Order: sequence, then structure tokens, then C-alpha cells
Amino acid sequence: MRTYKRVLYIITCFVVHGITAQDKSLVNTSESPYARLRGAGLADVSWTNGFWKEQFDIANNSTLPYMWDLYHDAETTHAYRNFEIAAGLMKGKHDGPSFHDGDFYKIMEGMAAMYAATGDNTLDRQLDEAITLLAGTQREDGYIHTPVLIEERWGTLGEEELQKQLGFEKYNMGHLMTAACVHYRATGKDNFLKIARGVADYLYDFYKKASPELARNAICPSHYMGIVEMYRTTRDARYLELAENLVDIRGKTDDGTDDNQDRIPFREQKNAMGHAVRANYLYAGVADLYAETGEKVLLENLRSIWEDVAYRKMYITGACGALYDGVSPDGTSYDPSVVQKIHQAYGRPYQLPNATAHNETCANIGNVLWNWRMLQLTGEARYADIMELALYNSVLSGISIRGKEFLYTNPLLVSKDLPFEQRWGNTRQGYIALSNCCAPNITRTIAEIGNYAYSFSEKGVYINLYGSNRLQTVTPEGSSLVLRQETGYPWDGDIQIVMEEVPSGEYGINLRIPGWSKGTTVEVNGKEISGVSAPGTYLELKRKWKKGDRISLSFPMPATLMQANPLVEEAANQVAVQRGPIVYCLESAGLPEGTDIGQVALDSKEAFTPVPLTIEGRQVMALHTSGYGGENNNWNNTLYKPLHKDNNRIEMEFVPYFSWGNREEGEMRVWMPYR
Ligand SMILES: [Zn+2]
Repeated sequence: MRTYKRVLYIITCFVVHGITAQDKSLVNTSESPYARLRGAGLADVSWTNGFWKEQFDIANNSTLPYMWDLYHDAETTHAYRNFEIAAGLMKGKHDGPSFHDGDFYKIMEGMAAMYAATGDNTLDRQLDEAITLLAGTQREDGYIHTPVLIEERWGTLGEEELQKQLGFEKYNMGHLMTAACVHYRATGKDNFLKIARGVADYLYDFYKKASPELARNAICPSHYMGIVEMYRTTRDARYLELAENLVDIRGKTDDGTDDNQDRIPFREQKNAMGHAVRANYLYAGVADLYAETGEKVLLENLRSIWEDVAYRKMYITGACGALYDGVSPDGTSYDPSVVQKIHQAYGRPYQLPNATAHNETCANIGNVLWNWRMLQLTGEARYADIMELALYNSVLSGISIRGKEFLYTNPLLVSKDLPFEQRWGNTRQGYIALSNCCAPNITRTIAEIGNYAYSFSEKGVYINLYGSNRLQTVTPEGSSLVLRQETGYPWDGDIQIVMEEVPSGEYGINLRIPGWSKGTTVEVNGKEISGVSAPGTYLELKRKWKKGDRISLSFPMPATLMQANPLVEEAANQVAVQRGPIVYCLESAGLPEGTDIGQVALDSKEAFTPVPLTIEGRQVMALHTSGYGGENNNWNNTLYKPLHKDNNRIEMEFVPYFSWGNREEGEMRVWMPYR
């Protein structure tokens, strides 16, 4: 009966509404009453050449196959084996972190998105194989979490309820629901979605019956995003009710913490706090809920928290979560015995250390997820700016250029002289044994990158990201729209947009003028448009377009010396180099032999020359300049000494921050002194 109803429901949905391109978007806001923008379909954007084509090909040819094999190699990671044991295919024990299931779901999501873009049948077949296995593990009541299911099947079930609260099961289930929605939109098949409905039904019942303590929100709340996406896919109103309930109960128990963003109710939260992955996932999930309910305080708080992050707590690379460990700024008392610890967390305003920056890749991806949703809610370009900043810098730094090694943390300074080992290393690894959450996360993000490039509203199409690609879609109004971008962006700022098929009446093309840009010029068919919008806004070009019309955009891209708010002590009197959306760094490999990277200074009067550089077979744009070295400045057993001004001129080669650590294991810095 349940299955019958479900099928009937899905059929009714699509007969009544019809499936639009936007219904097949990564985050489907096509019917969200409080979202201004909706996305393109997962299959609508194809990268044709240049930066994102290269990155997308690395994901398709290297990262995804590598991940699939890795997660099937039980000697290295037990994730797939855990499902096999839970399904009863073999005996054994659960092994690996309790968030292993969720990491595998993220790989599945990446494969589904990749299938949408490439139509590669191998991916489809592999996904079906995994989905069949998942179905074999799922409990009658919809529950699925291998640490518990394996205990149930093979051993004595331990403190199940405790595990439910403290384990990562909601995180895992959240990723399952999101992956299943993407799979459904990519393939049209509902085999994964059926499992996800079981999960969503289980969670609905669980949160109805559970005590407030037990119902306390689980950590890393990917299930907020997941359950709202399930509502959007199925239109089952219970799932929206559950999403509201999750926000209602947050912060309603006595044992909440700022680290987990549940010391106080969300509706009282005005600042970013605690574990940055949990925080950004929560904010993204609340944004999803707002898109459906329009509850004012949710958006007000999201805006306030966003300002706290963007103006006071985010790195120049778009990275989030400054502190390995710290103390909650507000959830404390003067009694040290009740001071609350935080970890992998947002610190106080302007507390942005470089060498000890945590900046988990997942937190930086969370920043993208959150800003994408804020963009969809509001249509404001400042959210796209941060999305782009994080993508090009602190997300991509999490993966090697080869596409098979990953970073958990993303520091802005690496020095061999730092006399202590940090918990997480600064070398990319093929498998991060205790925390491989970031690798699958970045894998799915790159597979989905095309979906972030365009949005739609009644004002027309929005171009959020630039890169050579072809958009082939049907607008929400039902017109065919095909356009292509040709550009060397982000290495140069000239972009051509050519119309191939256009709606018959007047139609708006909304071009993102990045916040970093100055002196932008725009031409349509060679005629300059006057009054280009201010940086950090969308420029609306509304007219009757015809096939072959060409928009030429030019963003001048000088290398720019950036400074930080003086309250950022660890960047005081220093500069960083940025060109377009790319933040640069200096590595040992970019300095004359024997130069100590800790003692160099930039010459602020010197120009930078862009020079193509090949790293691991990939061409990036390096920047050459000259400055001052300090090779004789020995700091051994010295904390302070008189100023020694070394005027030794040296040549310096800056490389994009995301590409650091791909040439040799040297030192690296983003901020540096200047003269
Ligand atoms: Zn992670």
C-alpha cells in the first residue's frame, strides 16, 4: 500500500506540474515560494574548455574512479565492506569512523551528478549496484546506519540510543537523502529515492516520539538540507514539518554547546559559532527551510551570521573555521570549570591565525553550499562572490592537481620551523585515515560545479560563474535557451557570451559583476553598454535577443595587493596577492635556493608579470615580481632582536593558493610583509 501510494504521488506530482529543467537542479527551488532564483538542470551545462573543463575532467577521469576503487578496498577503507556486512553478505565487524556511510553517499552523489553531465553508463551501473546493496541493509522502519545495523545483525546491540544521539547517523542519513534526490533527478530512476523515503519516514517518526534530549540535533546536520530536498522531490508535507521541527528543537535542552550551535535556539543566534562544518551545514539547511516557509527571523539571523563570517571571521581564501581548539566566545562563564571548549571552529571576530588555521575543506564547501542558497533566496551577487572565492581557493586547495590526494585543513602559512606537530598534517594524502570526509565532499562538489554557474528568475538568466561552457536549457517560462561562454577565465578577464537559441520576446541576461572587479566594460555586438553596474551586483541586459548576438565582458585583472582589517593581528602590516578571484601564495619553490620564506618582503612598488606555469601537467598563471630576501637572518634560539634590514633583492614567483604543495614539500605563505 505504501509503495502504491508513493508511486501514485510521484506520478501525480509530475503530471500536475510537469518536469522542468529547474526541477532537475542540484538544489530544486523551482517551487520554493521564498526563493527568488532557481537553478539549471543537472545536465544543462557542459564545460567546453579551460579551467573548469580541466577540473571536471580530472574529477571524471581520476577522482571519481579513484574514490570508487578506494571505498571498495576494505584493507584501506571499510565503508563499502560495512554495508556488505550489514546486508548479511558476510560476517564481520564495523570498522572505520561512524561517518563512513555518509562519505560513501557523497561519492554516490558525485557519480550521479557526473552521470547527468556525461551520460556514462558505467556510473549508472555502479550506482545501481551500490543502491541494491544499500536496500539490502535498510531496516524495515527505514533506519540505515551500519555501525548499529551490524551490531543488530551480528552481535549484541550496545547503547543504541546513545549512538543515535552521538553518532553521525543523522549526518549519514542527510547525505543519503541529498544523494538520492540528485540521483533521481539525474537518472529518473527511483530506486535510491525509495531508500531515502524510508530514511525520511524513519526520521519523521523518530523526531515525533523522541524525548527532547534524544531528539537533540545530531552533529554535522546535513539532514536539514537532505530533508528539505526530500520535500522538494516528493512534496510530502511531513518532511517540511520535520525540517521545521528540527529547527524548533535546536537549543531546547540544557546540555547544548556553542560548538554544536545548540546552546541557544537558532532563532536567537546572530553570530557564527562553533564547529565550522556543523555551522555552515546548519546555515545552509536553515536557508533551505526559509525558501519554503518564509519565516522572517530565519533569514534575518542568516544575514546577521553571514555578515559576522564575511566581515569578521572568514579568511581571504573563503575558508572558515580558524581554530583547531578554542573556547566558546559567549557560552562561557567566569568559572573556568564550566568554560566550553570548541574545536575545528569559528573563533572570535578577527581571530584568524595562519599557520594553525584549521579551515577544514568540508567547512569551506559548507560555505559554498550556504552562499549558493543565500544567492537563490535573494538574487544578491555578494553571495555568488563568496561562493566563487571559496571554490577557486579554499575548496580546490583541498585536492591535488592530480585529483587523487586531499587535504583536511587549509592553512595560510606552512613553516618548517614551527616546533610542534599539528593534529592534521600539511601534506595531501590519498586517504586520510581518521577523517576522509573532505575527499568525497570535494569530489561531489566538482562534479556539480556546472550547476552553480547559472540561475533563473522572472528577470531572466543569471550568469553566476564564468568559464567556457555551453548552457542548453528550457527556461522556467518554457522557452529554449542555448548560449555559450568562451573565456580563459580566471586567468584572464575577457569573456564572450554567444546566443545560440533565445526566447522569442524580451529576455534578461543578468551578468555578475564580481565584487573584486574595477573598470568593467560590456559590449553587445561590439557596442559598448554605458553605466555598467557597481562591482558586487548583477548587470541586467534586457532586450529582444537573436541568434548570434554576442556579449563581450571585460574584467581588468591586475595583480592586487590586499590588506586585512587591522584587527586581524596575524595579517597586520602584511599583504596578500590577489588577481581576479584567485588568491596567490609564495612557496619555497618560487624563491631562489636557500631563501627563508619567513623572512621575505614584497616590494610594493614592483609590478607583477603574469607568466603561464605548468604544474603536474596543468597550466596555471604564475605571477613574477621581485622583492627582498633575508638569508642571513638566523632566528635559532632567538625570540626578539634588533631590526636587521636585509636589502638582498630576489625574484619571486607567486602561484595560485589552490595549487600549493603540488611541486615539492616546501614552505608556503599567503600573507607577507612589504616595503
Ligand atoms: Zn571534511
